[in-house]
Amino acid sequence: MSAYDYDLLVIGSGPGGQKAAIAAAKLGRRAAVVERRDMIGGVCINTGTIPSKTLREAVLYFTGLNMRDLYGQSYQLKEEITVQDLLARTQHVIGRETEVIRSQLARNRVRLVNGTAQFVDPHTVTVRSSESDPGRKVSAEKIVIAVGTRPARPPEIAFDGRRVVDSDGVLNMEDVPRTMVVVGAGVIGIEYASMFAALGTRVTIVEARERFLEFCDSEIVEALKFYLRDLSVSFRIGEAVASVDVDAAGTITTLASGKRIPADTVLYSAGRQGATDVLNLEAAGLAADKRGRIEVDDELRTAVEHIYPVGDVIGFPALAATSMEQGRIAACHAFGQPVQAPPEFFPYGIYSVPEISMIGMSEEEAREKGIPYECGVARFRETSRGHIMGLDTGFMKMLFALETRRLLGVHIVGEGATELIHIGQAVLNLEGTLDYFVENAFNYPTLAEAYKIAALDAWNRLYQGAATTPEVAEEA
Ligand SMILES: Cc1cc2nc3c(=O)[nH]c(=O)nc-3n(C[C@H](O)[C@H](O)[C@H](O)COP(=O)(O)OP(=O)(O)OC[C@H]3O[C@@H](n4cnc5c(N)ncnc54)[C@H](O)[C@@H]3O)c2cc1C
Repeated sequence: MSAYDYDLLVIGSGPGGQKAAIAAAKLGRRAAVVERRDMIGGVCINTGTIPSKTLREAVLYFTGLNMRDLYGQSYQLKEEITVQDLLARTQHVIGRETEVIRSQLARNRVRLVNGTAQFVDPHTVTVRSSESDPGRKVSAEKIVIAVGTRPARPPEIAFDGRRVVDSDGVLNMEDVPRTMVVVGAGVIGIEYASMFAALGTRVTIVEARERFLEFCDSEIVEALKFYLRDLSVSFRIGEAVASVDVDAAGTITTLASGKRIPADTVLYSAGRQGATDVLNLEAAGLAADKRGRIEVDDELRTAVEHIYPVGDVIGFPALAATSMEQGRIAACHAFGQPVQAPPEFFPYGIYSVPEISMIGMSEEEAREKGIPYECGVARFRETSRGHIMGLDTGFMKMLFALETRRLLGVHIVGEGATELIHIGQAVLNLEGTLDYFVENAFNYPTLAEAYKIAALDAWNRLYQGAATTPEVAEEA
């Protein structure tokens, strides 16, 4: 008999928490997940990934934006698109996702404990369903902290959930605004800015730093800026916000330069804060940094050996897929199950309009590391599939090492980028070369054919004009 209620207790039911609990259950351990009643599936299902991506899909469907090259610039499925049109789909998808998660947990005999957890000692938490609830104690041999993050709210900004909103508030908006200021050009800010721009909202993006999405290849960011300007987005880059005021007519965002930007709505997207403040981490012998994040070692351990934080609460890369992997790996470490370290490269997706995805090195990184490289580019409007789909935007760029022809990185902006990237991911992580793309036939007509086109482009840049080319070039 164990001295504890469970072998593993997971705090938080987002992607990291779910996968940790299920992995423990598959190892024959007794696992439980603590979560608030209305948040099954975490930020991912309820306020983050899934609602924002569903909203994007609804925006593209109702606006017919991607069909305008085929059917004319005024093409739109519905004349007046309402918030209800957009949110109906979101609620439907959240409902479906929550059902699947509940059933997966139940199938694996993972107990779901409703409430908010707070440590009382390193092996025990109190779970309360409300402020007045005295709570009940739950103990476990091992604990996974998967509490995620919430939007950071600078105290000087008066969020009212209507005119001045954060990324959670977007999902409660009553109307599609005519004008909008988006403060913060991080991934979330850019995604929502582009969705509202696609809906016809005149969007101004304000970003204090001189660059944004710095982790992306700069050519891709330039292309995104171009496409967003085409949707009437204005940029105020390198300009800080001094204040946001609200009156009966709407909002006024005043920049440090004195520039005043009136708008119906301000979306303030100023990063995210780890949700560790209610955990009483000290009782577990742990601490968080000033952004609420918990530091971990390579095996996701803390100074307290049996406690493993995973997901957004440990910071970068703060993605759903990497959080899931961290959850699984933490459970394996906790119960002595051998587990491979994750591959060096993972894909990154930004669901802006148009979407972006990347894996591996950017041109800037290759230059910084002193790796000689060549690029190959394929434009979607030059592929047959692109013609059929009516695509007039989007391209793929691949980087190859000059000496070894090894694939170094793939960068895509345009339709299907977040799906297409996985071909590049496989070749990159299996240490493949340019030759793979040149030698293999791809389904035709597909957007994946862009891999072949970009590879041949790189091949030509490398060897065109050479007296002899390596064998594969003759075949190509
Ligand atoms: C607007 C937005 C869009 C995003 N889009 C994408 C995307 O397209 N792709 C992508 O990969 N990622 C995206 N993300 C990030 C993704 O949602 C996160 O990486 C992922 O949800 C992190 O998972 P997690 O396991 O850390 O937990 P989270 O999903 O953050 O969930 C944590 C859970 O813990 C619970 N919790 C917190 N404290 C306690 C407590 N004390 N007791 C009990 N429960 C508690 C919370 O209620 C919450 O349900 C997006 C995020 C946002 C906000």
